[in-house]
Amino acid sequence: MYCSFCNEYPTEAFFKSYCISCANLRRMLVLYDSSKCIDILNRILLRTDTQISNKIQIELKRNMVSEINKISDDNKEYDRPPATATRSKSKVEKC
Ligand SMILES: [Zn+2]
Repeated sequence: MYCSFCNEYPTEAFFKSYCISCANLRRMLVLYDSSKCIDILNRILLRTDTQISNKIQIELKRNMVSEINKISDDNKEYDRPPATATRSKSKVEKC
């Protein structure tokens, strides 16, 4: 038997009507207020066009920043002096 909610997965047991994930969802809806769950899902999963375009812009900027950081990290490796060429941190005693 398949789940009576999603019709994708087999039910938890023969006499059960929901699959494991849908049964989990149902328990969460019973545990918390269903309107609160719907509000949370609407705020998280459903996006307006402006929200989608804002997210795209944020992701594009994040990708650009990470690419810039990669380029600057590459330059740091070339500019970094070898470990033997650095000064020692111990103080030099006066003569
Ligand atoms: Zn299901």
